[in-house]
Amino acid sequence: MEASKYKLSCAVWEFTLRCNLSCVHCGSSAGKARADELNTEEALKLCEDLKRTGCRGVALMGGEPLLRKDFWAVASRIKELGMELSVITNGTVFSDEIFGQFKALKPRAVAVSLDAAAARLHDEIRGVPGSYKKTSAFMDRALEQGLPLSVITTVHKLNLKELPAIRDLLKGRGIAWQVQTAGAEGRRFSKDLLLDEEEFYSVGIFIEACRRGSCAKDLPIIGAHDLGYNSGILKNISLYEKWEGCQAGVSVLGIRSNGDVLGCLAMNEDGYVEGNVRSWGIAEIWNGASAFGYTRHFKAGDAGSNCAACPHLYACKGGCNEMSLMKSGSLHNDPYCFYKLERRFFAEELSDPLLRLRFRLNGWINARSGAFGSLGRRFFGG
Ligand code: SF4
Ligand code: SF4
Repeated sequence: MEASKYKLSCAVWEFTLRCNLSCVHCGSSAGKARADELNTEEALKLCEDLKRTGCRGVALMGGEPLLRKDFWAVASRIKELGMELSVITNGTVFSDEIFGQFKALKPRAVAVSLDAAAARLHDEIRGVPGSYKKTSAFMDRALEQGLPLSVITTVHKLNLKELPAIRDLLKGRGIAWQVQTAGAEGRRFSKDLLLDEEEFYSVGIFIEACRRGSCAKDLPIIGAHDLGYNSGILKNISLYEKWEGCQAGVSVLGIRSNGDVLGCLAMNEDGYVEGNVRSWGIAEIWNGASAFGYTRHFKAGDAGSNCAACPHLYACKGGCNEMSLMKSGSLHNDPYCFYKLERRFFAEELSDPLLRLRFRLNGWINARSGAFGSLGRRFFGG
């Protein structure tokens, strides 16, 4: 089979669906392992297969990946094959030894989920008392060992206003912070907890203010890759300078613990499964002529009503497909992109050239000084 022109940069691998916590926002409703999860031999073979396909990095996540006894064998194999390794853990399953084991592996990142600066709220969100204490201890030990520690915070209505307290807890400790917003795919998550438009945009304001303000040096912070693209005001919230559309099946893929392959694990519907590694090699799935058609063969006519007339459509392709599905029920139709939200919030300012100039200047000055501006102040004070 001919190699496709698409290069596989990163595979996000749900190593097991088993989890010892019960987080309200968990998009895969983790808890019990899938009945048909890949065994160790299959998992090791998958590592080889990913390498053969040209994959540069693998992120092991769950459920809770450290619950699998073969975690270290598979993580080591990934590194032996010359791929980068990232691990996403809830930070509650560990013994003293694992920090040395992690250090020996030289992972690109060890990411821990932290949803509040206060134990009560974090434990409420994570569904198990005592989680915060364990996760904090994990973070302390990881830092002592000099591991590249990241914290991931998933934001919804329960913890939006907690962001400044988490920032204060993390800054100055050598931690990188990724802020993402919750989706509604999980069975435990009530849609009532989803951020509304203004709350969603305020997360962007918060990140921008942090990156430009006092904690810029003390706390590297980024928004998730799918948060807030094509803003005319907030220019500095993502790792990427320019949003180039959903990367599902373009540079990334997701692998379920039973070997199902999707463009993105967040698009957690069986209809988006492209194949299973028990029947097909990763290269066959990745290089298939009709694989990942929704991103690879996007046409302007595929866009929904939110996006059809947008000047960014060609490059943006209708935004994050997970968000688009969740909010509008169809692909290529994200109503929560910052381009769209700014046109809704600031219609008057953006329609008049003079007002637009003043508005941009004010927005820039606010962002530059790290202040929140009126919308940000409503949620975060200060
Ligand atoms: S309206 Fe659609 S195409 Fe335009 S920037 Fe937003 S998500 Fe992208
Ligand atoms: S669906 Fe969204 S989260 Fe998934 S790869 Fe596309 S942009 Fe990223």
